[in-house]
Amino acid sequence: MDLKIKSIKAYPVWIGHRNQLLVKIETNKDIYGWGESGLSSRELAVKSILLHFENFLKGKDPFKIGRIWQEIYRSQYFEGGRVITAAMSAIDIALHDIKAKALNVPVYELIGGKQRDFVPAFASTAVPPGERMIDLSKELIEKDWKCIRLSPSQKPDHSEIIYEPREALSETAEWLTKARAELGNEIVLGVDMHHRLNVAEAASFCNKMPPGTIDFLEEPIRDENPTSYQSLRRMTSIPFAIGEEFASKWQFLPYIENDITQFARLDICNVGGFTESLKVAGWCEAHYIDLMPHNPLGPICTAASVHLGAAIPNFSWLEARNTPSEKLGSDNDDIFTQQVKLKGAMYPVPSTPGLGVDVNEEIIKELEFKYWEATHLQRTDGSITNW
Ligand SMILES: [Mg+2]
Repeated sequence: MDLKIKSIKAYPVWIGHRNQLLVKIETNKDIYGWGESGLSSRELAVKSILLHFENFLKGKDPFKIGRIWQEIYRSQYFEGGRVITAAMSAIDIALHDIKAKALNVPVYELIGGKQRDFVPAFASTAVPPGERMIDLSKELIEKDWKCIRLSPSQKPDHSEIIYEPREALSETAEWLTKARAELGNEIVLGVDMHHRLNVAEAASFCNKMPPGTIDFLEEPIRDENPTSYQSLRRMTSIPFAIGEEFASKWQFLPYIENDITQFARLDICNVGGFTESLKVAGWCEAHYIDLMPHNPLGPICTAASVHLGAAIPNFSWLEARNTPSEKLGSDNDDIFTQQVKLKGAMYPVPSTPGLGVDVNEEIIKELEFKYWEATHLQRTDGSITNW
């Protein structure tokens, strides 16, 4: 076929409630692929490195995906880093889209074949702890959702920028305990602490709830120091769900090898695409850890995560954000003319060639990037705390 990479186009554009960095790789033939980068609020940095990579990727064989991954990562002095691997993720996903289309197969056929008929999903209530959180959970359970992620209390004083961990964790623990009592034992419940606590606060939080209240605790503390996580691991029996910010298999390494995390919150648009995700998945399999992928972006990230989930044995639930409890609008039908959509509480595995996603490029050319920066949370004493 003699396919060659012709161009890489990066579109950081505001869709629904957020910016999405959509990446199109064109070839010398009539075949193109779409990828997405997940380094939220740093999209312009990723776009710049994508344009740099385009210079040496032009003319290369898009089938040599593993070699291209190695070449981008290793053929420079300052290897790796979040910005680079977010760009590599989009390239790797788009190259899988191209190769699968060229071979006329769905992407999962390139990575071992389909192991499941659908990919289960979890929903988030995305409201502060309270009666509304429990009512939304009941609605989800009625609609056959099996796994629900609840949100912690964020701003006890109802300020836009103040976060006091101790007040937040006490209120959250009380409401999670009520939620479990009202929702029953069958439903899988988790909570995302958004790495806002320190080790002592996280341990107190876990100890304020009866055993069995939650089935997973997502990101209680920040992850730069795995030894601190090991210390927290010894203080609670609640399974952890960690890894959405990891930008390589090497960041996962201590968390898997030391059995710190019990679910891998891998993000295919940040960790390094399919190529890196499969390595992390294999490593997790050896430690009986299921993937519970992070999927907060748009339909390209969703489709890539669905193909990954279809082709690996160790999978629990894929994060879904356009659910009955959260309608975020990042799956606009005019823009994403073909996409993999939720069906109840699961994603069907698409059988169309490639990822099963297409984008109306004429529309996104006209869309704007919107400056967005996370709230810079602070304590009541004025000091900075984690967002
Ligand atoms: Mg999270």
